[in-house]
Amino acid sequence: MSRNAPKPSCEKTVKNAIKSKLLPWFAQNRRDLPWRKNRTPYRVWVAEIMLQQTRVDTVIDYYKRWMKAFPSWRALARAPQPDVLKAWEGLGYYSRARNLHAAAKIITDEYKGNLSNAWKSGPRMNANGRECFQGLEKPKLSHLRKCDNFPRSGETDDQCARSPEMQLRCLPGVGAYTAAAIASLAFGEDAAVVDGNVIRVLCRLFAFGGDTKTAAGKKKMQAWADELMVKGRVGESNEAMMEFGALVCLPKKPKCTECPMQKSCAAFAKGIPDKYPVMKKKKKVPHIVVGAAVTVNRKGEVMIAQRLEGDMLGGLWEFPGGKLEPDETIEECIARELKEELGINVEVGEFLMTVKHAYSHFTMTMHVYFTKIVSGRPRLIHCADYRWVKPANLLTFAYSKADLHVVAKLQGK
Ligand code: SF4
Repeated sequence: MSRNAPKPSCEKTVKNAIKSKLLPWFAQNRRDLPWRKNRTPYRVWVAEIMLQQTRVDTVIDYYKRWMKAFPSWRALARAPQPDVLKAWEGLGYYSRARNLHAAAKIITDEYKGNLSNAWKSGPRMNANGRECFQGLEKPKLSHLRKCDNFPRSGETDDQCARSPEMQLRCLPGVGAYTAAAIASLAFGEDAAVVDGNVIRVLCRLFAFGGDTKTAAGKKKMQAWADELMVKGRVGESNEAMMEFGALVCLPKKPKCTECPMQKSCAAFAKGIPDKYPVMKKKKKVPHIVVGAAVTVNRKGEVMIAQRLEGDMLGGLWEFPGGKLEPDETIEECIARELKEELGINVEVGEFLMTVKHAYSHFTMTMHVYFTKIVSGRPRLIHCADYRWVKPANLLTFAYSKADLHVVAKLQGK
């Protein structure tokens, strides 16, 4: 190493910087977000689930509407699933809404609406009467340890099993990050979170050049986060790290000149902060082409179908159709799909529109055509339900983002 080579940051220096620089920065710069007011476990939970894979700006309005519609665990637990999906409409990753709904029922029925009863009353039992950790029986705790670095250092298996974090993980839709966020923000537990923002900040502070997606890389990130948390103020230090990653230590152009931790940052010292975290080349995302039908009856109503519960976007409504097969025209694809899903023969007519949409693991181009039934009565072959609806009433149902474009077009918006 040359004399002038930058020294890597040590944990002690970074820990001091977090306490003395980052927390004061956060106190001055924290955004005024709706979930930071009147903090209750329910409000924290809803925000954390909505914020997964979704930008803060997008979540704000959804969050406010959700809190009006379902102000408590009990209100959410009592709501019919279509209302819950409708409130989530357009936010994507709909399993989050279904899991939130399922968790509300457990918290209301089993814990009398008080989440901390989850760990006071001991681990949940599965159908065999054995302790259950997110569907895993206790002997498989080793599996969780492997995946998510449980138990935390210094914890016995039993302490881990009875910790709030692990008990939260027994509830639907709660992974390692969400459990730590709820435990620290809503209950003041010493549980350090690791999300994309935290990973970026840690990689830069320590100039970590390893792959953060491997088991070893994840373990390293969690170990640093655990080590660096400010005990007794973990909720605050978690939020500060995430806020700092979102506002200053940005993915592409970190604002190093405004950074309160610049002196402790190894990536800055090397002059290449934006080279961390080291990214592996992304795999090409597959693309699919889809045909969808707006089938109109004599009354001017259009047909919508409800997707099967276990399928992607399950429970949502759509204009029926499906994936284009090799050597098939879009018109043939639409006719085949309607026969397979609803048992009807249709004549494919005028083109309505094309919708392009990106999901997390593929992109889609959907071509939409008007159709009319030439024979057969709709049957539920590969859909949960179907309805004939006047275009003006289509928004009574919940759709995916792609189908919402079709609804808007039919409503002349
Ligand atoms: Fe991030 Fe730059 Fe601060 Fe380092 S100096 S922590 S890269 S903002």
